[in-house]
Amino acid sequence: MKMFEKVLRNRNWSAEEQQVLDQVQRMVDAVIAPNAAYIDRTSEFPWKNVEAINELGLNTIFVPEKYGGMQMSYRLYLEVVTIISEACASTGIIYATNFHGMKPLIDFGNDEQRARLLPRIAAGGLGALAITEPTAGSDATGMKTRFTPDGDDIIVNGSKIFISNGDVADLYLLFGKWSEIADRRAAISVLILEKGSPGFSVISKEHKMGHNGSSTCALAFDNVRVPRANLIGKPGEGLRILLASLNKSRPSIAAHARGIARAAFRDMVSYGNSRVQGGRTVLDFQGNQFTLADLASELLMVERWIDYVAELVDGGDADFGMEASVAKLRASDLAMKMSLECVQFHGGYGYCQDYRAERLMRDAKITQIWEGTNQVHRQLIGRSFKSK
Ligand SMILES: Cc1cc2nc3c(=O)[nH]c(=O)nc-3n(C[C@H](O)[C@H](O)[C@H](O)COP(=O)(O)OP(=O)(O)OC[C@H]3O[C@@H](n4cnc5c(N)ncnc54)[C@H](O)[C@@H]3O)c2cc1C
Repeated sequence: MKMFEKVLRNRNWSAEEQQVLDQVQRMVDAVIAPNAAYIDRTSEFPWKNVEAINELGLNTIFVPEKYGGMQMSYRLYLEVVTIISEACASTGIIYATNFHGMKPLIDFGNDEQRARLLPRIAAGGLGALAITEPTAGSDATGMKTRFTPDGDDIIVNGSKIFISNGDVADLYLLFGKWSEIADRRAAISVLILEKGSPGFSVISKEHKMGHNGSSTCALAFDNVRVPRANLIGKPGEGLRILLASLNKSRPSIAAHARGIARAAFRDMVSYGNSRVQGGRTVLDFQGNQFTLADLASELLMVERWIDYVAELVDGGDADFGMEASVAKLRASDLAMKMSLECVQFHGGYGYCQDYRAERLMRDAKITQIWEGTNQVHRQLIGRSFKSK
């Protein structure tokens, strides 16, 4: 444990960053961690957790000062996602989705849009990112939602599925196809849809394997009028914005998975040192030591790699797509492997809800699926080594 805590400690946070991290940890210990089993069991949306997050103003750390935020480093944002997710993966993804949905507005919106919309998020509003449709999963170009220009408005028709924060968001970053552009890739465009727009409805909420406190919704758009002023970029710029945005949300998904992996690791160490069988602790058995050694080594590498990707972003490097894919792939595979072994370490107790091991395992699975399945990331990374 000493080696792991040393890696976490020696990360050169500034005094201001350390203060934020300490505050977040205190809030997580007091509010989010004690609520985690309850929201998993009841599938209630954790408004109490969102309020606690907003009391600390955690959305402000990714919103520029000019628009009501107090922007800090991307590396700090990722660590906050990890700390929250370690205690409760559902709450971690609710918070991270604000960033995933609103970062494209920050990076690609115009000044008027940012000034009008971002203060709401900085003040604690919830965001959503709406890409996926029944016909458009791994291949987003298969989306059918249509944006039809009509004077000062855009009329939106279509549907989305699997949208995190879909029933609670204040602002939705919504992708669709511009009706006047025929090409399936070139037509993709993006706009901000505001909560309560007439014609917009939440059709259903998924019943899932895990992340029970985070809502995942199917949405419908029936002649929804959106002011043209909410179009991000120009018609047809959606795919470029989508790909650039995913590069920044994938390390965030990695940070979320890292939280689950940290939780499972700590539980394995703790249980392995306390559970006694045949006069020895579980961690006295060499086979278990080997398992933990492999997983601990991977965790240490993942910790460092996510920081490395964050430093690229904070340093202004624009070409970090593959590094982001590696972070997403390895952190999510590790979260799955670590939580699976965590259940095994706990024996029969691991299969029961007295311990959080089984929740960690259920929560880990989706991290290998969303924001590009891990097959897709393996393909992207592998392809990047092909000679041009
Ligand atoms: C809980 C949850 C929350 C989500 N939140 C959001 C959200 O907030 N916003 C949003 O827009 N979406 C969200 N999603 C959607 C998620 O990103 C998609 O489910 C994911 O991208 C995969 O798409 P799909 O489910 O259609 O699977 P498919 O694309 O149909 O894939 C099916 C299988 O085929 C494989 N496959 C597909 N294409 C390839 C390929 N080219 N090479 C190799 N294998 C391939 C996949 O890896 C997978 O194993 C969420 C999903 C869930 C379950």
